[in-house]
Amino acid sequence: MVAGIVPAAVRAMVGLGAEPSRIVARTGPAVCGRCYEVPEAMRAEVAAVEPAAHAETGWGTPSVDVTAGVHAQLDRLGVHDRERSPVCTRESQDHFSYRRDRTTGRLAGYVWLG
Ligand SMILES: [Zn+2]
Repeated sequence: MVAGIVPAAVRAMVGLGAEPSRIVARTGPAVCGRCYEVPEAMRAEVAAVEPAAHAETGWGTPSVDVTAGVHAQLDRLGVHDRERSPVCTRESQDHFSYRRDRTTGRLAGYVWLG
């Protein structure tokens, strides 16, 4: 999100003829802003790039909401057909979370052209 991968992807798509209003964006399960604790300096660094990612954990410490940041970026680019999974990987026992378990695991995602 900080590196601007999503805006770069949308701009590349637009460069190839896509219309932002016809792009469909879905974000999958991810650690949520209430759970993604980071040092204050990191939150400030991220929020300087994307203010919508500024968050606070459920226990009152600095955090980042990556998904909120990505959706804000998409919104500014005119991608309005968006949905966000309500699943927080740290809170869900059905999902892998390094932050919760401190062990490695695997996640997969996919993209298709419809
Ligand atoms: Zn959470």
